[in-house]
Amino acid sequence: MARKIIVLGEVRDGSLRNVSFEAVAAAKIASEGGEVVGVLIGDSVSALSGELIHYGADRVITVEDEKLKQYTPDGYSQALMAIVDAESPEGLVFGHTSLGKDLAPKVAAKLNSGLISDVTGLEVAGGNLVFTRPIYSGKAFEKKIVTDGLVFATIRPNNISPLEKDESRTGEASSLSVDIKDLRTVIKEVVRKASEGVDLSEAKVIIAGGRGVKSEEGFEPLKELAKVLNGAVGASRGACDADYCDYSLQIGQTGKVVTPDLYIACGISGAIQHLAGMSNSKVIVAINKDPEANIFKVADYGIVGDLFEVVPMLTEEFRKILV
Ligand code: FAD
Repeated sequence: MARKIIVLGEVRDGSLRNVSFEAVAAAKIASEGGEVVGVLIGDSVSALSGELIHYGADRVITVEDEKLKQYTPDGYSQALMAIVDAESPEGLVFGHTSLGKDLAPKVAAKLNSGLISDVTGLEVAGGNLVFTRPIYSGKAFEKKIVTDGLVFATIRPNNISPLEKDESRTGEASSLSVDIKDLRTVIKEVVRKASEGVDLSEAKVIIAGGRGVKSEEGFEPLKELAKVLNGAVGASRGACDADYCDYSLQIGQTGKVVTPDLYIACGISGAIQHLAGMSNSKVIVAINKDPEANIFKVADYGIVGDLFEVVPMLTEEFRKILV
Protein backbone atom coordinates (compact mmCIF):
# COMPACT_ATOMS: atom_id res chain seq x y z
CA MET A 1 0.00 0.00 0.00
CA ALA A 2 1.60 3.23 -1.17
CA ARG A 3 1.81 5.82 1.60
CA LYS A 4 2.76 9.47 1.91
CA ILE A 5 5.41 9.81 4.63
CA ILE A 6 6.76 13.06 6.04
CA VAL A 7 10.34 13.25 7.31
CA LEU A 8 11.54 16.07 9.53
CA GLY A 9 15.05 17.12 8.48
CA GLU A 10 17.05 18.26 11.49
CA VAL A 11 19.32 21.23 10.97
CA ARG A 12 22.25 21.97 13.23
CA ASP A 13 24.71 24.82 12.65
CA GLY A 14 23.42 25.28 9.12
CA SER A 15 23.80 21.61 8.07
CA LEU A 16 21.47 18.64 8.03
CA ARG A 17 22.24 16.03 10.67
CA ASN A 18 23.05 12.59 9.32
CA VAL A 19 20.05 11.06 11.11
CA SER A 20 17.83 13.08 8.72
CA PHE A 21 19.11 10.99 5.80
CA GLU A 22 18.59 7.80 7.80
CA ALA A 23 15.02 8.97 8.48
CA VAL A 24 14.50 9.48 4.74
CA ALA A 25 15.69 5.87 4.15
CA ALA A 26 13.23 4.63 6.79
CA ALA A 27 10.44 6.69 5.22
CA LYS A 28 11.28 5.20 1.81
CA ILE A 29 10.61 1.70 3.22
CA ALA A 30 7.43 2.89 4.94
CA SER A 31 6.14 4.64 1.82
CA GLU A 32 6.11 1.38 -0.21
CA GLY A 33 6.63 3.31 -3.43
CA GLY A 34 4.43 6.23 -2.31
CA GLU A 35 5.83 9.66 -1.59
CA VAL A 36 8.51 10.81 0.86
CA VAL A 37 8.09 14.48 1.72
CA GLY A 38 10.98 16.16 3.51
CA VAL A 39 10.15 19.00 5.88
CA LEU A 40 12.56 21.71 7.00
CA ILE A 41 11.64 24.17 9.75
CA GLY A 42 13.74 27.17 10.73
CA ASP A 43 14.47 30.76 9.76
CA SER A 44 16.58 30.13 6.65
CA VAL A 45 16.68 26.46 5.79
CA SER A 46 15.44 26.29 2.21
CA ALA A 47 19.00 26.03 0.81
CA LEU A 48 19.15 22.53 2.33
CA SER A 49 16.11 21.20 0.42
CA GLY A 50 18.27 19.87 -2.43
CA GLU A 51 20.35 17.74 -0.08
CA LEU A 52 17.27 15.99 1.34
CA ILE A 53 16.19 15.26 -2.23
CA HIS A 54 19.65 13.92 -3.12
CA TYR A 55 19.26 11.47 -0.23
CA GLY A 56 15.87 10.23 -1.42
CA ALA A 57 13.08 12.70 -0.54
CA ASP A 58 10.66 13.14 -3.46
CA ARG A 59 9.97 16.77 -2.56
CA VAL A 60 10.62 19.17 0.29
CA ILE A 61 8.44 21.72 2.07
CA THR A 62 10.01 24.46 4.15
CA VAL A 63 8.41 26.58 6.84
CA GLU A 64 10.53 29.62 7.56
CA ASP A 65 9.94 32.25 10.22
CA GLU A 66 12.14 34.37 12.46
CA LYS A 67 10.33 32.78 15.44
CA LEU A 68 11.57 29.36 14.31
CA LYS A 69 15.25 30.31 14.39
CA GLN A 70 15.73 28.25 17.54
CA TYR A 71 13.87 25.04 18.28
CA THR A 72 10.91 25.42 20.61
CA PRO A 73 8.28 22.69 20.93
CA ASP A 74 5.61 25.37 20.66
CA GLY A 75 6.91 26.93 17.41
CA TYR A 76 7.87 23.67 15.67
CA SER A 77 4.62 21.94 16.55
CA GLN A 78 2.63 24.84 15.04
CA ALA A 79 4.67 24.50 11.82
CA LEU A 80 4.38 20.72 11.73
CA MET A 81 0.66 20.69 12.46
CA ALA A 82 0.13 23.07 9.53
CA ILE A 83 2.08 20.73 7.25
CA VAL A 84 0.13 17.68 8.42
CA ASP A 85 -3.05 19.64 7.77
CA ALA A 86 -1.96 20.58 4.26
CA GLU A 87 -0.51 17.20 3.29
CA SER A 88 -2.61 14.56 5.11
CA PRO A 89 0.27 12.05 5.33
CA GLU A 90 -0.01 8.45 6.56
CA GLY A 91 3.14 8.69 8.68
CA LEU A 92 5.85 10.96 10.09
CA VAL A 93 9.48 10.00 10.77
CA PHE A 94 11.88 11.86 13.06
CA GLY A 95 15.38 11.19 14.36
CA HIS A 96 15.43 9.80 17.91
CA THR A 97 17.36 12.91 18.98
CA SER A 98 16.69 15.45 21.73
CA LEU A 99 14.53 17.37 19.25
CA GLY A 100 12.71 14.33 17.83
CA LYS A 101 12.07 12.88 21.32
CA ASP A 102 10.53 16.19 22.37
CA LEU A 103 8.53 17.09 19.28
CA ALA A 104 7.19 13.76 17.99
CA PRO A 105 5.17 12.78 21.10
CA LYS A 106 3.83 16.31 21.43
CA VAL A 107 2.43 16.39 17.90
CA ALA A 108 1.35 12.71 18.01
CA ALA A 109 -0.64 13.41 21.18
CA LYS A 110 -2.25 16.50 19.66
CA LEU A 111 -3.37 14.35 16.71
CA ASN A 112 -4.37 11.44 18.92
CA SER A 113 -1.98 9.19 16.99
CA GLY A 114 0.32 6.28 17.79
CA LEU A 115 4.04 6.85 18.28
CA ILE A 116 6.77 4.21 18.11
CA SER A 117 9.98 5.58 19.57
CA ASP A 118 13.63 4.55 19.33
CA VAL A 119 13.13 2.44 16.21
CA THR A 120 16.13 0.39 15.09
CA GLY A 121 14.53 -1.43 12.16
CA LEU A 122 11.51 -1.25 9.89
CA GLU A 123 9.87 -3.66 7.48
CA VAL A 124 6.55 -4.13 5.75
CA ALA A 125 4.72 -7.39 6.53
CA GLY A 126 1.13 -8.33 5.77
CA GLY A 127 0.44 -4.77 4.67
CA ASN A 128 1.54 -3.41 8.06
CA LEU A 129 4.54 -1.30 8.97
CA VAL A 130 6.43 -3.39 11.49
CA PHE A 131 8.85 -1.45 13.68
CA THR A 132 11.66 -3.04 15.71
CA ARG A 133 12.74 -1.33 18.92
CA PRO A 134 14.90 -2.35 21.88
CA ILE A 135 13.38 -3.08 25.28
CA TYR A 136 14.78 -4.02 28.72
CA SER A 137 17.80 -1.74 28.23
CA GLY A 138 18.69 -3.32 24.90
CA LYS A 139 18.52 -6.95 26.12
CA ALA A 140 15.62 -7.79 23.83
CA PHE A 141 13.82 -6.37 20.83
CA GLU A 142 10.09 -6.04 20.26
CA LYS A 143 8.20 -5.66 17.01
CA LYS A 144 5.30 -3.22 16.98
CA ILE A 145 2.64 -2.04 14.60
CA VAL A 146 0.22 0.87 14.78
CA THR A 147 -3.15 -0.55 13.83
CA ASP A 148 -5.07 2.61 13.18
CA GLY A 149 -4.50 6.13 11.89
CA LEU A 150 -1.40 8.22 11.52
CA VAL A 151 1.93 6.61 12.49
CA PHE A 152 4.70 8.57 14.20
CA ALA A 153 8.17 7.06 14.56
CA THR A 154 11.51 8.25 15.88
CA ILE A 155 14.51 6.33 14.58
CA ARG A 156 17.67 5.70 16.55
CA PRO A 157 20.76 7.22 14.84
CA ASN A 158 23.25 4.83 13.20
CA ASN A 159 20.81 1.93 12.73
CA ILE A 160 19.11 2.42 9.38
CA SER A 161 21.59 3.11 6.58
CA PRO A 162 20.96 6.23 4.52
CA LEU A 163 20.48 5.81 0.78
CA GLU A 164 23.41 6.63 -1.43
CA LYS A 165 23.57 10.35 -2.19
CA ASP A 166 22.51 11.00 -5.78
CA GLU A 167 23.13 14.56 -6.85
CA SER A 168 21.25 14.01 -10.10
CA ARG A 169 17.97 13.43 -8.21
CA THR A 170 15.51 16.29 -8.55
CA GLY A 171 12.28 17.14 -6.78
CA GLU A 172 10.03 20.08 -6.00
CA ALA A 173 11.03 22.41 -3.19
CA SER A 174 8.19 24.61 -1.96
CA SER A 175 7.49 26.75 1.07
CA LEU A 176 4.42 26.85 3.25
CA SER A 177 3.49 30.09 4.91
CA VAL A 178 2.38 29.46 8.49
CA ASP A 179 1.23 32.16 10.86
CA ILE A 180 3.33 31.22 13.90
CA LYS A 181 1.43 32.52 16.94
CA ASP A 182 3.36 34.16 19.75
CA LEU A 183 5.51 31.56 21.45
CA ARG A 184 5.13 30.84 25.14
CA THR A 185 8.86 30.16 25.32
CA VAL A 186 11.28 32.63 23.78
CA ILE A 187 14.91 31.59 23.61
CA LYS A 188 17.10 34.63 24.18
CA GLU A 189 20.49 32.99 24.01
CA VAL A 190 21.96 29.54 23.58
CA VAL A 191 25.06 28.88 25.64
CA ARG A 192 26.76 25.77 24.29
CA LYS A 193 28.95 23.50 26.32
CA ALA A 194 32.29 23.50 24.51
CA SER A 195 32.28 20.20 22.66
CA GLU A 196 35.09 19.30 20.34
CA GLY A 197 34.98 17.16 17.26
CA VAL A 198 32.43 14.55 16.30
CA ASP A 199 28.86 14.55 17.70
CA LEU A 200 28.62 11.71 20.24
CA SER A 201 25.12 10.53 19.33
CA GLU A 202 25.97 10.13 15.62
CA ALA A 203 29.62 9.05 15.94
CA LYS A 204 30.73 5.91 14.11
CA VAL A 205 33.58 5.43 16.59
CA ILE A 206 33.40 6.17 20.33
CA ILE A 207 36.23 5.99 22.84
CA ALA A 208 34.63 5.99 26.29
CA GLY A 209 36.36 6.44 29.62
CA GLY A 210 35.25 5.35 33.08
CA ARG A 211 36.41 5.87 36.62
CA GLY A 212 39.53 3.97 35.58
CA VAL A 213 40.85 7.07 33.77
CA LYS A 214 41.33 8.51 37.27
CA SER A 215 41.34 12.24 36.41
CA GLU A 216 40.41 14.88 33.84
CA GLU A 217 43.93 14.56 32.40
CA GLY A 218 43.39 10.80 32.20
CA PHE A 219 41.01 11.47 29.28
CA GLU A 220 43.85 12.92 27.16
CA PRO A 221 45.07 9.56 25.71
CA LEU A 222 41.41 8.73 24.88
CA LYS A 223 41.04 12.06 23.06
CA GLU A 224 44.21 11.31 21.08
CA LEU A 225 42.85 7.92 20.02
CA ALA A 226 39.50 9.50 19.12
CA LYS A 227 41.28 12.06 16.96
CA VAL A 228 43.18 9.37 15.01
CA LEU A 229 40.00 7.32 14.49
CA ASN A 230 37.84 10.40 13.75
CA GLY A 231 35.64 9.39 16.67
CA ALA A 232 34.01 11.01 19.68
CA VAL A 233 34.84 10.71 23.37
CA GLY A 234 32.18 9.39 25.75
CA ALA A 235 32.11 8.46 29.43
CA SER A 236 30.50 6.36 32.11
CA ARG A 237 28.53 8.03 34.85
CA GLY A 238 31.32 7.01 37.20
CA ALA A 239 33.69 9.31 35.31
CA CYS A 240 31.13 12.15 35.16
CA ASP A 241 30.26 11.85 38.87
CA ALA A 242 33.97 12.00 39.71
CA ASP A 243 34.15 15.27 37.73
CA TYR A 244 36.65 13.88 35.22
CA CYS A 245 34.44 15.11 32.37
CA ASP A 246 31.16 16.81 31.56
CA TYR A 247 27.79 15.04 31.94
CA SER A 248 27.08 15.74 28.26
CA LEU A 249 29.46 12.81 27.56
CA GLN A 250 27.57 10.32 29.73
CA ILE A 251 26.45 7.13 28.00
CA GLY A 252 23.90 4.80 29.54
CA GLN A 253 20.46 4.49 30.99
CA THR A 254 20.40 8.09 32.21
CA GLY A 255 22.78 9.38 29.53
CA LYS A 256 22.97 9.01 25.77
CA VAL A 257 22.14 5.80 23.93
CA VAL A 258 24.66 5.16 21.19
CA THR A 259 25.17 2.54 18.48
CA PRO A 260 28.50 3.26 16.83
CA ASP A 261 30.34 0.84 14.53
CA LEU A 262 33.14 0.67 17.11
CA TYR A 263 32.93 1.32 20.89
CA ILE A 264 36.15 1.21 22.89
CA ALA A 265 35.44 1.12 26.64
CA CYS A 266 38.47 2.14 28.72
CA GLY A 267 38.43 1.61 32.48
CA ILE A 268 34.68 1.00 32.58
CA SER A 269 33.38 -1.86 34.74
CA GLY A 270 30.26 -2.53 32.66
CA ALA A 271 27.42 -1.78 35.10
CA ILE A 272 23.99 -2.64 33.73
CA GLN A 273 23.10 1.05 33.51
CA HIS A 274 26.13 1.71 31.31
CA LEU A 275 25.43 -1.30 29.10
CA ALA A 276 21.92 0.06 28.50
CA GLY A 277 23.48 2.87 26.49
CA MET A 278 26.07 1.03 24.41
CA SER A 279 25.51 -2.73 24.26
CA ASN A 280 24.00 -2.51 20.75
CA SER A 281 27.22 -1.05 19.34
CA LYS A 282 28.36 -3.10 16.36
CA VAL A 283 31.84 -3.94 17.68
CA ILE A 284 32.80 -3.50 21.34
CA VAL A 285 36.38 -3.45 22.57
CA ALA A 286 36.96 -3.39 26.34
CA ILE A 287 40.20 -2.41 28.06
CA ASN A 288 40.22 -3.17 31.78
CA LYS A 289 42.76 -4.20 34.41
CA ASP A 290 40.27 -6.59 35.99
CA PRO A 291 39.79 -9.79 33.95
CA GLU A 292 36.48 -10.39 35.80
CA ALA A 293 35.01 -6.99 34.81
CA ASN A 294 31.44 -7.28 33.57
CA ILE A 295 32.22 -5.25 30.44
CA PHE A 296 34.05 -8.28 29.00
CA LYS A 297 30.70 -10.13 28.88
CA VAL A 298 29.46 -7.81 26.12
CA ALA A 299 32.82 -7.19 24.45
CA ASP A 300 33.75 -8.65 21.06
CA TYR A 301 37.43 -8.06 21.88
CA GLY A 302 38.82 -7.77 25.40
CA ILE A 303 42.21 -6.45 26.44
CA VAL A 304 43.18 -7.11 30.05
CA GLY A 305 45.64 -4.37 30.88
CA ASP A 306 46.33 -0.86 32.06
CA LEU A 307 44.52 1.61 29.82
CA PHE A 308 47.38 4.11 30.18
CA GLU A 309 49.65 1.58 28.44
CA VAL A 310 47.16 0.03 26.03
CA VAL A 311 45.44 3.17 24.67
CA PRO A 312 48.68 4.96 23.57
CA MET A 313 49.83 1.70 21.93
CA LEU A 314 46.56 1.45 19.99
CA THR A 315 46.83 5.12 18.98
CA GLU A 316 50.36 4.56 17.73
CA GLU A 317 49.36 1.52 15.67
CA PHE A 318 46.25 3.15 14.20
CA ARG A 319 48.28 6.25 13.38
CA LYS A 320 50.66 4.09 11.33
CA ILE A 321 47.75 2.67 9.32
CA LEU A 322 45.45 5.68 9.05
CA VAL A 323 47.44 8.93 9.16
P1 FAD B 1 33.68 1.63 38.20
O1 FAD B 1 32.52 0.72 38.37
O2 FAD B 1 34.36 2.14 39.42
O3 FAD B 1 34.72 0.88 37.28
C1 FAD B 1 36.00 1.36 36.99
C2 FAD B 1 36.70 0.25 36.21
O4 FAD B 1 37.97 0.72 35.79
C3 FAD B 1 36.94 -1.03 37.01
O5 FAD B 1 36.41 -2.13 36.31
C4 FAD B 1 38.47 -1.13 37.10
O6 FAD B 1 38.93 -2.47 37.02
C5 FAD B 1 38.89 -0.36 35.87
N1 FAD B 1 40.22 0.26 35.97
C6 FAD B 1 40.74 1.01 36.98
N2 FAD B 1 41.97 1.46 36.66
C7 FAD B 1 42.23 0.99 35.40
C8 FAD B 1 43.33 1.12 34.51
N3 FAD B 1 44.41 1.86 34.82
N4 FAD B 1 43.27 0.50 33.32
C9 FAD B 1 42.21 -0.27 32.97
N5 FAD B 1 41.12 -0.42 33.77
C10 FAD B 1 41.13 0.22 34.96
N6 FAD B 1 26.30 4.56 34.75
C11 FAD B 1 26.58 4.89 33.48
O7 FAD B 1 27.70 4.69 32.98
N7 FAD B 1 25.62 5.47 32.69
C12 FAD B 1 24.37 5.72 33.14
O8 FAD B 1 23.57 6.24 32.39
C13 FAD B 1 24.05 5.36 34.49
N8 FAD B 1 22.80 5.55 34.97
C14 FAD B 1 22.52 5.13 36.24
C15 FAD B 1 21.21 5.24 36.72
C16 FAD B 1 20.91 4.80 37.97
C17 FAD B 1 19.49 4.90 38.48
C18 FAD B 1 21.90 4.24 38.79
C19 FAD B 1 21.58 3.73 40.17
C20 FAD B 1 23.20 4.13 38.34
C21 FAD B 1 23.53 4.59 37.06
N9 FAD B 1 24.82 4.48 36.57
C22 FAD B 1 25.08 4.80 35.27
C23 FAD B 1 25.96 4.14 37.44
C24 FAD B 1 26.41 2.71 37.31
O9 FAD B 1 25.65 1.89 38.18
C25 FAD B 1 27.91 2.58 37.69
O10 FAD B 1 28.10 3.08 38.98
C26 FAD B 1 28.85 3.30 36.75
O11 FAD B 1 28.56 2.96 35.41
C27 FAD B 1 30.28 2.92 37.08
O12 FAD B 1 31.17 3.65 36.29
P2 FAD B 1 32.59 3.04 35.93
O13 FAD B 1 32.43 1.73 35.26
O14 FAD B 1 33.32 4.11 35.21
O15 FAD B 1 33.27 2.92 37.35
